[in-house]
Amino acid sequence: MVKGYCVKCKEKGREMKDVSIKQNARGGYMGQGTCVSCGTKMSAMMSKENAEKAVASGEAKKAY
Ligand SMILES: [Zn+2]
Repeated sequence: MVKGYCVKCKEKGREMKDVSIKQNARGGYMGQGTCVSCGTKMSAMMSKENAEKAVASGEAKKAY
């Protein structure tokens, strides 16, 4: 499960749903999705390893 910080819940480690993983200009990976609790859009920086793991397991969509 991809997790990030939800600005509305003010909670770290909040699970995200409908996650898509993008790559920024610097080659970093970022997961973007919505908070499972409140539906607010969230994003989280991810390591290459975690990004690929999430895509491989089907938890996140590859968008890079
Ligand atoms: Zn939330």
